[in-house]
Amino acid sequence: MTLTTHATLGAVIGKLAGNPVLAFILAFCSHLLIDMVPHGDTGLSDNFRIHKKNQKLAVAYVAVDAIVALAFVLLIANTRDIDHLRNFTWGIIGGVLPDFLVGLYDLTKTPLLRWFYRVHFFFHDFFVKRRGEVPLYYAILAQVVFIAYLQTKL
Ligand SMILES: [Zn+2]
Repeated sequence: MTLTTHATLGAVIGKLAGNPVLAFILAFCSHLLIDMVPHGDTGLSDNFRIHKKNQKLAVAYVAVDAIVALAFVLLIANTRDIDHLRNFTWGIIGGVLPDFLVGLYDLTKTPLLRWFYRVHFFFHDFFVKRRGEVPLYYAILAQVVFIAYLQTKL
């Protein structure tokens, strides 16, 4: 999923969780679960990690994704009365942290993160590798609709 989807879902979970620790843990778990839904980025990911081709495209996708997520989170934080800012913040951190750890592993190849990298892609690829991928364009449109719904819960 896009980082905006993970961040927004994390923020909503943070609101529902009621405390920052639970917000972080539940949002972190939500990342792995919602990544199981095929969301169009397996081609980008496999090209980047396995086939080592079109890597600049994957990096550009992640950069745009990260900046859109940051802008969206700041927009929400600056236009809403977020009553539990700490829960909101830790929900977002938990929601996006798994992809940060994967990126850190991509950069460093540290054995400390290898197990988590495998856990992440166990969930991420669970249905995609069995049932096939969906087109990225439709997946992004679906996420825009999902984000539009989620932000009404903040
Ligand atoms: Zn992920």
